[in-house]
Amino acid sequence: MSIIRLFVITFFCVLISACVTNPVTGKKEFTTMSPEDEVAQGTQNYMPAQQMQGGQYQVDPALTAYVQTIGKKLVAVSDRKELPYEFVVLNNDIPNAWAMPGGKLAINRGLLIYLQDEAQLAAVLGHEIVHAAARHGAQQQTQGTLLGVGTLVTSLVLAEKKPEYGLAAMGVMTVGSQAWQAKYSRAHETQSDTVGMKYMHKAGYDPQAAVELQEIFLKLQDGKEPGFIDGLFASHPPSKARIAANKKEATKYSGGLRNKSQYQKAIAQLVKDKPAYEKFENAQKAMSMKNYIDALALVDQAIQQQPRENLFWDLKGEALLRQEKPTEAINALTQSIEQNPKYFKPYVMRGVAYQATNKLDLAEKDLLTSQRYLPTQDAVYYLGEVYLSKGNRSKASEYFQQAAQAGGELGAAATKKLESM
Ligand SMILES: [Zn+2]
Repeated sequence: MSIIRLFVITFFCVLISACVTNPVTGKKEFTTMSPEDEVAQGTQNYMPAQQMQGGQYQVDPALTAYVQTIGKKLVAVSDRKELPYEFVVLNNDIPNAWAMPGGKLAINRGLLIYLQDEAQLAAVLGHEIVHAAARHGAQQQTQGTLLGVGTLVTSLVLAEKKPEYGLAAMGVMTVGSQAWQAKYSRAHETQSDTVGMKYMHKAGYDPQAAVELQEIFLKLQDGKEPGFIDGLFASHPPSKARIAANKKEATKYSGGLRNKSQYQKAIAQLVKDKPAYEKFENAQKAMSMKNYIDALALVDQAIQQQPRENLFWDLKGEALLRQEKPTEAINALTQSIEQNPKYFKPYVMRGVAYQATNKLDLAEKDLLTSQRYLPTQDAVYYLGEVYLSKGNRSKASEYFQQAAQAGGELGAAATKKLESM
């Protein structure tokens, strides 16, 4: 650190109270975001971010419990144990993981399936824990490079363009005011790799697994695994140089736990369900080409193999809705909600189906429930329709105005409704 930089930091530290010692580096740093802000931001954005990315994986809760156990082991040896860490497995095909400020972490089932042992899982979680512990999000925000609501809009557009990724293809109204995904710099990535390996070693794992993890990522990138390039790793892509740096770092340590059989046992359900998810992927492709008959046939095969996967029932419900079979759609979506009552999407679709069958109270209830998990333009627009049918013109116009403000096709439809009212 140069003298001038030190002086500047000291100057700001005297002036402004938002100056804290970085728990990982031990250095004083100026950030506009206090540790309390970090926790508040993470807490506020954790749920909507999960909802936008498929919600939590619920077919095998033991897998989530396992991930949490490994996460806690790493937190226990980290430099910032006091954060309210949380770990979830997202019901998403894309091989990805992320950390929000304040210690809110997620790993996709689409990444877990590519890992071979517990040490590799520890490499992913260790890396993400460092992002949170070393306040990388707070630093990015201070530099104005933390991606804000714009990111949400971008990923939303992405989701609409590529429904085959299993993301929610609905317009999200507002998701807090803060960011949920930092575009971490190369320096932050390096630090997360290096310190993450230290945590792995302290928790008893073989840090060599961090090298293998990068090799897996590079292979996925070269193989153009769908979604991977567009995924959040796009901001910090794997490279041969990164692998080489990690290899050098790994020579500092000798061996450690791999726990391959434990890991394989933990992901056994995912492995068993792989053919069902492949059928589901093909059904999504058929849906995106508006081939609802094929989509329905394919998703029925997926359901036969794994009837507890709520996303399969959602797709079935959506295909039936598109074929204007609302009563059958309601049955499929009810199955989905039974499997996972904490996911916004089936509530929106069932609300639309109830509205189409003139069951207005049920429609209202479902649409309002969906808004609690994730506010969408779709739910807002259809709430307008429901209130209009119920003769509540002031509420209808309130919702149509909200939907109109969000723009797009539904926004235009809402404007038309307002004009005709
Ligand atoms: Zn990272």
